Formats: sequence, structure tokens, C-alpha cells
Amino acid sequence: MNADITAHPHPKNDAFLAACEAVVGATNLITGDDMARYLTDWRGRFTGHARAVVRPADTAQVAAIVLSLARLNRIREVDPVNDTLTAEAGCLLQQVQDAAAAAGRLFPLSLASEGSCTLGGNLSTNAGGTAVLRYGNARELALGLEVVIADGRIWNGLRSLRKDNTGYDLRDLFIGAEGTLGIITAAVVKLFAQPAARVTALFALDAPPQALSLLALAKQRCDAALTGFELMSDICLQLVEKHFPQLRTPFNARHPQYVLLELSDAESDAHAASLLEAVASSAIEQGLVRDAVLASSLSQSAAMWALREHISMAQAAEGKNIKHDIAVPISRIADFIDETDALLQQAFPGCRMVSFGHLGDGNLHYNVSAPLGQDDQVFLQQQAAVNLIVHDQVHKFGGSISAEHGLGALKREEIRRYKSGTEMDMMMSIKRALDPLNLMNPGKVL
Ligand SMILES: Cc1cc2nc3c(=O)[nH]c(=O)nc-3n(C[C@H](O)[C@H](O)[C@H](O)COP(=O)(O)OP(=O)(O)OC[C@H]3O[C@@H](n4cnc5c(N)ncnc54)[C@H](O)[C@@H]3O)c2cc1C
Repeated sequence: MNADITAHPHPKNDAFLAACEAVVGATNLITGDDMARYLTDWRGRFTGHARAVVRPADTAQVAAIVLSLARLNRIREVDPVNDTLTAEAGCLLQQVQDAAAAAGRLFPLSLASEGSCTLGGNLSTNAGGTAVLRYGNARELALGLEVVIADGRIWNGLRSLRKDNTGYDLRDLFIGAEGTLGIITAAVVKLFAQPAARVTALFALDAPPQALSLLALAKQRCDAALTGFELMSDICLQLVEKHFPQLRTPFNARHPQYVLLELSDAESDAHAASLLEAVASSAIEQGLVRDAVLASSLSQSAAMWALREHISMAQAAEGKNIKHDIAVPISRIADFIDETDALLQQAFPGCRMVSFGHLGDGNLHYNVSAPLGQDDQVFLQQQAAVNLIVHDQVHKFGGSISAEHGLGALKREEIRRYKSGTEMDMMMSIKRALDPLNLMNPGKVL
């Protein structure tokens, strides 16, 4: 989190920075060009302004200033019997996963950005990722939080309890709040048993309705062993192959849609493999899939996941497109895609649909690229009109216009079109109660 002091001028800016420096030391007060990496998003589309970035070392220093939490990166405790891990908010997600694995347990939150995103960011955006189907979002994985609230006090809610009905759930207010209610400095998260085996398959299919039937079949056959179910259209994989030529789809022919399916099995490799083979044979018998490849080694499985995980980067390399991170009830996804694709083609003939996502959670990254030959920048000028079609459709299908990534500044106004006045009023009341001076991430969410 960066302190946007320029946008919210402090009457004593210099004195303020000097006071920050007194708390964290000169090397942890970053100004000028050194701030560049904190100010621009990874796609290079948005750049903020800040007078300084301050990097506190502990919760007490956080309570004194505003900041980057990179130095709050300690794993405080792993309790394998309680199946919990307590970590500071600046820990990288991968660091949390590794600490759990070192204790023989699993922290199942998994995203393509796990090598760079932080636990605090994951909780603040209620991140989802590739295993929500089995383990839930970041919200479901958190038991307790430590938070610095707007008046500088520290709330120690680091409880590692699975049952606690003692009033309002304050923890859930801060999760998904995108830093607008307080600064998460540490969290207690749930751990799980490491699966004995993980198996992966890639299926080629005609269209989303077949993917939904395959999902129903896999759930029926595998129940809790089904941990991943990702849909990818062919255009997504073509972009991956174009920009990352070392990655290739394992099929001889091209197909309209693909599903990456993962099972995590508590018994053994052999048991997992036979379960996966049974799903694949039934899917082929029922005519749900055109082709299937079952990974026969860890490296083949990793190569399949790499296809999925490189889609965002391949899109970024291809150019800018209009992104939507939407959720609709799983049962309605195929109809949503069908109807919305048609409306977009009607309004913007030739536009290219780069859709992929966590089908098992009803979550699609429903992205629209310029027609071939049209300049990205020209197409981006249509963004408001494209968003209106897509988000009105999402609303019509009972969905959400932000499934995983939050509202930020970009969707702050738009959400008013889709949430009732009552809901917006309740959100505003909570914000006013916890942050009456609007100090916490001003301009985001509300
Ligand atoms: C390649 C790629 C793939 C991704 N895949 C997924 C995916 O599958 N699922 C998914 O959900 N997301 C995904 N994301 C988005 C992103 O990585 C996640 O949302 C991640 O959880 C954000 O963590 P971060 O540390 O990068 O947070 P940031 O981007 O730094 O911050 C996100 C928001 O949270 C606030 N914040 C950060 N830390 C704190 C804190 N300690 N206390 C209070 N507020 C805080 C920030 O101010 C900001 O508003 C992906 C991103 C990339 C680049």
C-alpha cells in the first residue's frame, strides 16, 4: 500500500516525512525514482502518485505510519495439530505455502502470482485462485486477523478458533475491504492435509455446455477430490503458444474449448489415476469431450498448469484488452457466454473473446480484445460501452461484476448501478464508523 500524500496534501509534508523517517529509518523511506515499482500496476496501465513509500518492520511501526508491508514477512507460528499458521501480512503467498509444506501440511490458496503477491493483499482482495472449488476463497481460509485501524490502534484478533460466536464478525469486515477499513498486519490461516497424490488432465471440448456436464460428472465421481476445474478457450491457448513458444497444447488438432481438471487424492497415485481414468472414459462415452490427455508425470502436469497460468501474461504481451472478472451461478455460465458473446459481436463486429477462468467457481475472466487489425488504443476507447453490455448481462444473470479482483478505483462508481441503495448505505455506514476521516486507501471501493 502506498501513501498517496500528493492526492491528500498534508499541511506539514516535510515534517510528516521526517516523522516517518524517524519511525522506520532513512533506508525504509523511499522517494523519487526508487518508488517507480510501487506506483505502476504489473500491466503498466495505471500509475499512481506518492510523496513517499514507507516500509515499517512491525505492527507497531505500521500503527504509526502508511506504507509498504514488504518487511512484515515473518511466519510467526505453525501449529500442525490445530492446523493453523500465523503469518505477517507482507509474507509472499509462496512463503506461506512453503512454511505449511515444511510442517507437512497444505495451505491451499494458489494463484499464478503466488511468487509476488502477499498474504495481506490476498486477504484484502479476498483472492480466489485455482483451488476455491475444494478449499474456498481467502476469506474461508482465514481464522483470525491482526489489524491496525484508522485511529492507530491495533486490533489483535489473531484467534485460531473454528468456532467463535461472540458478536459481529469483525474479521470478515477487513477481508475483501481492499485496505479501506484498516491495515492487516498478520493473519491466522487454516491448514489442511497434504494430498497423497495430484493428477491432472486436459480435455478438449466443443463448447461451455459440455464443460458444465463434465464438471457435474467429475463432482459426482470425485466429490472432494476435485480441486481444480479451469475453462480456457482456444484463443487463450493460441496466445500462450504465440508468446511462450516453449509451451504447447498436447493435442494434435485445435479445439474450441479446453478444461484443465485436477484431482487431489488422499490415498495414492494409483487411486488418483484410476479415478481420473474413470472420469475420462465416462466423459468420452457420453460424448462430452472430443479428446483427453491424462498427465503421466509431474512435469507433464506442470506443463498443463503452465498453459493456464501463462494466459494473463500472454494477453499482456499481445496488447491491451478490456477485462472483466465476473461471476455468475455455475448453472448459468454457458447461457451467459452464449448471449453476451452474441451481443458484443453485434455491437463490435469482429471483437475477439479471450475468456477463461475458474469454471468450477462460476468465475470467468471474460476479456474482450480488438478485432484483428484494429489498434488496441482505438478499441479501448469503447471500454465504457463494452463494460455496460457485459456488466448488465452479469447483473441479469444474477452475478457479480468483480469475482476476485475487487472494486478498486476502476469499478467504484460502476458498482452503484448494480448494488441497491440499502446495500451501499450499509457499506458507507461501516466505512464512516471505522474510518471517519477517510484515511484508509481513499478513493477505493466507496
Ligand atoms: C498473473 C496474475 C494472476 C492472478 N491470478 C489471480 C487469481 O487466480 N485469483 C485472484 O483472486 N487474484 C489473482 N490475481 C490478482 C492478485 O494477485 C491477487 O488479487 C492478490 O491477492 C493481490 O495481492 P498483492 O499482494 O499483489 O496485493 P496488492 O495488489 O498490493 O493490493 C491489493 C489491494 O489490497 C490492499 N492491501 C494490500 N495489502 C494490504 C494489507 N496488508 N492490509 C490492507 N490492505 C492491503 C492494497 O492497498 C490494494 O487495494 C492475479 C494477479 C496476477 C498478476
